[in-house]
Amino acid sequence: MSEKAPCALCGKEATIDTKVRTGSVTWHDVESYGCDNCGNYVIDSRLVCDWKNSGSDEPFKIACLVHQKQLAKKNQVYVIMDDGFEPTETNLPKDYKVWWRKSELLAEFPKPTEMVDRALANLARELPHPLSNVSMNDPDIYFKTFCKPIHQVRTLFKHMLEGNLLVAFKSIPHANPSYSISQKGWERIEQLKQPGVDSTQAFVAMSFDPVMDTTFQQGIKPAIKKTGFECLRMDNHEHINKICDEIVAEIRKSRFIIADFTGHRGGVYFEAGYAMGMGLPVIWSVHKDDLDNLHFDIRQYNHIVYETPEELKLKLQNRIAATIH
Ligand SMILES: [Zn+2]
Repeated sequence: MSEKAPCALCGKEATIDTKVRTGSVTWHDVESYGCDNCGNYVIDSRLVCDWKNSGSDEPFKIACLVHQKQLAKKNQVYVIMDDGFEPTETNLPKDYKVWWRKSELLAEFPKPTEMVDRALANLARELPHPLSNVSMNDPDIYFKTFCKPIHQVRTLFKHMLEGNLLVAFKSIPHANPSYSISQKGWERIEQLKQPGVDSTQAFVAMSFDPVMDTTFQQGIKPAIKKTGFECLRMDNHEHINKICDEIVAEIRKSRFIIADFTGHRGGVYFEAGYAMGMGLPVIWSVHKDDLDNLHFDIRQYNHIVYETPEELKLKLQNRIAATIH
């Protein structure tokens, strides 16, 4: 049964279905929304309730992020759960594409220093022609700029104008100005493009110890394949150059890197660090038994922790779908 209700993320009118079917059971403590702005999603009812009671800005931030990921256009069901959620075969709704814990998603919200670049990239993505323009009356302006209320959007645009990233013009005197991206703005957008953005290769950095073979064959490799990427692990790759030069060249060609720290090989630390320095997304993983041995410097990163290759496959597949666009 569905009815009209405000979207739990952006607040616009949406349709809601409070009983969602999972693989085998009807699941009552989630709600399913269909929103023109945010797409189709399933969300933990406790989150919706907490947000209503607290007046939190978290739903706005998440609405901006799903807007940026263009999830509404992809027409795929995604899932947002409270922290502590652990996925199983039966507690995710049917036909979902990707799920996040609340904090994992919020961690992607731009920091103050990133706000101008991220808003510029959003505007560039949404303007159909390089000379198209946007105004502050645009109903989606908040989600495009990560800013709310309107005076924050004005401040952000002021910074972008001062940085010569936008140009403002008026079609008639006294009209509200419209904004388009300047030549310098487009150059900045080119600079911001990540290396390897068109690549389909995923570089795997891990221990080559034979005990890791099933982890690779039944966990990492099928997860990469299922998400539409090609897997490269250096011992599977024919090379004639020195190993280090070849590794560096292959990382540079990749779209992202999976770094599994089980066994704590120095090479994995080097490859993950190099990829990070290049601006490539790094997906971190480690077997549960080795978690406590992680080097202090990388503990801050959100590692996928697993006990079996099947568990790694499921979590990795989701992390790739959630972070690599
Ligand atoms: Zn919405």
